[in-house]
Amino acid sequence: MSNKRPWGLHFGRIFGIEISVHWTFVLMIAYFAVSKGSSFVFFVLWGFLCVLLHELGHALAAKACKIKTKRIMLLPIGGIAQLERIPKNPWHELIIAIAGPTVNFVIFCFCAIGIVYFQPELFDVVKDGEKEIVSFKDIVEQPIYIQLFFLNGILFAFNLIPAFPMDGGRIFRAILATFMNYLKATRIAARVGIGFAIAFFFIAMLFPSASGFNTITMSLLAVFILLSAMAESNLVKTRTLFEGRTASDAMITEFTSASPQDPLWKLIDLMKKSLQADFPVVKEGKVFGVLSRNQLFFSYKKHGPGVLVGDIPFIELDGVPEDEPLEKVLEKFNSNHTPLIPVVREDQIIGIITAATVDRFGAMIEATEQGETGKYQH
Ligand code: ZN
Repeated sequence: MSNKRPWGLHFGRIFGIEISVHWTFVLMIAYFAVSKGSSFVFFVLWGFLCVLLHELGHALAAKACKIKTKRIMLLPIGGIAQLERIPKNPWHELIIAIAGPTVNFVIFCFCAIGIVYFQPELFDVVKDGEKEIVSFKDIVEQPIYIQLFFLNGILFAFNLIPAFPMDGGRIFRAILATFMNYLKATRIAARVGIGFAIAFFFIAMLFPSASGFNTITMSLLAVFILLSAMAESNLVKTRTLFEGRTASDAMITEFTSASPQDPLWKLIDLMKKSLQADFPVVKEGKVFGVLSRNQLFFSYKKHGPGVLVGDIPFIELDGVPEDEPLEKVLEKFNSNHTPLIPVVREDQIIGIITAATVDRFGAMIEATEQGETGKYQH
């Protein structure tokens, strides 16, 4: 499988899991180094070490549930553990989701013990009637166990907010899914998430900070939660809708292929006469790849109408077998950055799938409820 990791700096492997750092992360550290000084940079790096451990917690729990983790990526907004698949069993989802925050909680507890031993006065919040709390400004100058206490406390609490994409959202959905169906559980969890997003947005607007920093962060968080809730809802809806369906269910069989010997003008001509804008590149029935409309236009502009399909770059990709689960086919759209997927039977192309045909197929299933789509085939 060719899996691109376009913006990641590869850092090595832990337990066989690739660890990557997004280039914007490096940029962020460089920015802090220049603008805030070394103690702040170390504070941020400690924070991201805890994020990495949090993600490793998810990854190891996933491994225990027999799900591989492709990679862990650190971004300025946090970390992502890319699991090979989403667990279908709600108990597995629960275990995997809880494992991340648990790591932070354990570190938090160890640091709390450290504080009790070395600086018990820190916990004397009220002293002589005055509050003594370590301020955010000072925290970067504190001993490491105090920094880690603070960082892990925040990571733990933040991730338990019951809204996607936070772990709390997954934990909440998993608990619901133990006594109701998965789609309904997701819908409820997504709605609660949207409720949180609205609440965050109002808090951001009603209590603006002097610097404006909190307002921006809270608003961004609100948007982030909102988008994630909708995405998760759609994902699960699609997954439920397409369960048990295969590539051949969603393909159309009336389509035009491009041969490597075709000149570009011929395809432009075909495009004018039909709805098709992207073409499978096929020679004697065998699939070589996909020529997207953008690639076609680009090469047409650059090389002129007479150049042949075989001489210009196209997306190199194999067709999917007709009995490939539809869910897997959908993943291919993203991983191959392709607008079209050819479907093959014994190495010969028999149909194509595009985002539009998948949408239409989904609508058909919904409209006919049980999805007796066999009736629609000719
Ligand atoms: Zn997590």
